[in-house]
Amino acid sequence: SHNLPFLKLFMLLSLSGIAMHISNPDLLVPAYLQTIPLNGHFLFQNLTEFSKDFGNRFSYEPSAVLYPASVSDISDTIKHVFELGAKSGLTVAARGHGHSLQGQAQVTGGIVIRMESLQGTQTMVHTGELPYVDVSGGDLWINVLKETLKHGLAPMSWTDYLHLTVGGTLSNAGVSGQAFRHGPQVSNVYELEVVTGKGDIMKCSAKENSDLFYAALGGLGQFGIITRARIALEPAPKMVKWIRVLYSDFMAFTEDQEMLISMEKTFDYIEGFVIINRTGLLNNWRSSFKPQDPVQASQFNSDGRTLFCLEMTKNYNPDEVETMEQEVVQLLSKLRYVSSTLFQSEVTYMEFLDRVHVSEKKLRSQGLWEVPHPWLNLLIPRSKIHEFAKEVFGKILTDTSNGPILLYPVNRSKWDNRTSVVIPKEEVFYLVAFLFSAPSPSPTSEKNENLEIALQKNKKVVEFCNNANIGMKQYLPHHTTQKEWRAHFGDKWETFCRRKQAYDPLAMLAPGQRIFHKSP
Ligand code: FAD
Repeated sequence: SHNLPFLKLFMLLSLSGIAMHISNPDLLVPAYLQTIPLNGHFLFQNLTEFSKDFGNRFSYEPSAVLYPASVSDISDTIKHVFELGAKSGLTVAARGHGHSLQGQAQVTGGIVIRMESLQGTQTMVHTGELPYVDVSGGDLWINVLKETLKHGLAPMSWTDYLHLTVGGTLSNAGVSGQAFRHGPQVSNVYELEVVTGKGDIMKCSAKENSDLFYAALGGLGQFGIITRARIALEPAPKMVKWIRVLYSDFMAFTEDQEMLISMEKTFDYIEGFVIINRTGLLNNWRSSFKPQDPVQASQFNSDGRTLFCLEMTKNYNPDEVETMEQEVVQLLSKLRYVSSTLFQSEVTYMEFLDRVHVSEKKLRSQGLWEVPHPWLNLLIPRSKIHEFAKEVFGKILTDTSNGPILLYPVNRSKWDNRTSVVIPKEEVFYLVAFLFSAPSPSPTSEKNENLEIALQKNKKVVEFCNNANIGMKQYLPHHTTQKEWRAHFGDKWETFCRRKQAYDPLAMLAPGQRIFHKSP
């Protein structure tokens, strides 16, 4: 592709003509893109992998995929697209690990940037008093963990699943059971390198180019492509005590969760999930957890019931077992769970953090990973969580056999309101995640009824929130009209638009979010 000087000249001479015709991408985009000198390369064929995502519901065909070998490859590509102007209609989407749910990392006829090609190019661990790691935006969190553990260090805030990219989760927020204490992942970043929608490579932090820094954090890929991130680290524990207990009373469950996240000395990870009408629940746990009281636990029956599981961990090193055990007993004594349902396990820090990967392997082997995922992630203010639960659990949703429902509180004070992330306006709010799978009921059926039913239920939940003024915000938001986006951002909408104008004036980046549209 580097040896096409005459073609390049021809292209450059007829730039304006191309700009008018480029809306026929099959014909001209490849030729034009091949004029860009790169360290990496473009792919123009066999791109089906890039027209799908984890959600398995939306599919858009790009006309080219950039495999960048350097940050300048990304910058040069964007500069070339920028030069074509608004008329070309050509758009660009960074693709992390493609774990979006509704086509957010896809483009129609545009360019996908395969961020994983940059993996490992920037990894550098800095030890010392305030340790941090520099990583590429395309690095998977699992690899960040592996690298930092070599130095006895690890990031502080996680997602439940680590086969996601740094740039992908920082474009959303990155929330898990550590967020109550450390804030989401976007609260644990010292610095970013971002390639803007004009192709400029910019370093940014709270001190330098801070407007771009906060824009990009939780920015849904709208302001630039995160090519490097400097992530805060802490000493990593070797082991984790992992605990599950059950509640049948929602009030006791949430009060205990809220008490735990408000305490100074508490667990290191606090989550929870809702279980509706599950058979043999505790038996399933036995493969990885030990019941405190096996006889009583075996008599516990989950059939037909709505239960709430509190899940927490305590980090420790092998020489701290005794103190850890004492602290755990002390903390558990404050809780009001059903006493026969205490289950515990000890695993390495790595095993705990990478826990969802175990389920992934199992689901993959059953052909149940690459199925439609009608997920819905909501942030619910604390004052409304009971009203929400009363309507949703048991009424709208009558079982959880098709995937887990997570429910746990976090503290707003650990989130930075200068970022692009949108959260409810209360000091404590809950993440409620409906993580459903909808495999087709039979390989021959044309319509996937499971998917239809799940989407219908999601719609009911959202409608209830809107009608009852719950003050809900979507996490990993999906809206289709600008009116909805405006409502989503609320008083942050003006800032969001101003930043878009400043950093991606042609609106070429991440069109799959459907917030702005590049006008051809
Ligand atoms: P992609 O889906 O590829 O991209 C997401 C968006 O960001 C797209 O718009 C894309 O264009 C843009 N983008 C990607 N890379 C960059 C970049 N470098 N710079 C700028 N923009 C970029 N989230 C949580 O917070 N907590 C969880 O516990 C959690 N668990 C999950 C478990 C599973 C099994 C899955 C599938 C997802 C989970 N998520 C969770 C959601 C996850 O954070 C999002 O899917 C997110 O999009 C990250 O995925 P990705 O790296 O594949 O990014």
